[in-house]
Amino acid sequence: MINIKSILKFWKGGDGKKSIRVSNDPVCGMRPTEGIGFVHEDIKYSFCSDHCKEQFEKDPEAYITR
Ligand SMILES: [Zn+2]
Repeated sequence: MINIKSILKFWKGGDGKKSIRVSNDPVCGMRPTEGIGFVHEDIKYSFCSDHCKEQFEKDPEAYITR
């Protein structure tokens, strides 16, 4: 699970880059593999495997807490 509020806090204090990147795989919480990513509502999520990416793509809201 990813807490959107913590991402937005990071965004405000960020360096002005357009996209926000989430550091951990939101599906399983593991460290993501480079190159496996998915952008949802201007936030880039990274995943450890294609399997986790597919899970997230099916229902992104299930893995995002607001
Ligand atoms: Zn994963």
